[in-house]
Amino acid sequence: MVENTVFDRILRGEIPADILYEDEHCMAFRDIQPQAPVHILIIPRQRLDSLQNATDEHTESLGHMLVAARKVADLQGIGATGFRCVINAGAGGGQEVPYLHVHLLGGRPLTWPPG
Ligand code: AMP
Repeated sequence: MVENTVFDRILRGEIPADILYEDEHCMAFRDIQPQAPVHILIIPRQRLDSLQNATDEHTESLGHMLVAARKVADLQGIGATGFRCVINAGAGGGQEVPYLHVHLLGGRPLTWPPG
């Protein structure tokens, strides 16, 4: 079965994205509706719909994405000032696209708690 979320399609190069970083495990591109001056999404090449379904098999891929987020934060000049990584999981967690992704946010002061 062909998986057809918008992020599957970006990974396959079927729709455009502003790609900032790629390696063997993940890809990072700008969010189309940024919520902060820097708002980048990091997705794994190993397909996973939601953190709700993560298993031991995803350990390397998930860990790799956080290190990639740090690299992208440095590339974007927010590594030293600070940034936030968010994974929305499931409808109750605010997830809209059913392909796991890390939101990397920064470039302005971020408040807590989030909405
Ligand atoms: P979530 O609510 O955690 O599932 O977040 C989905 C994110 O994907 C939202 O921040 C959207 O703005 C973003 N998004 C949806 N379509 C695209 C797209 N084609 N390119 C980049 N970001 C997108």
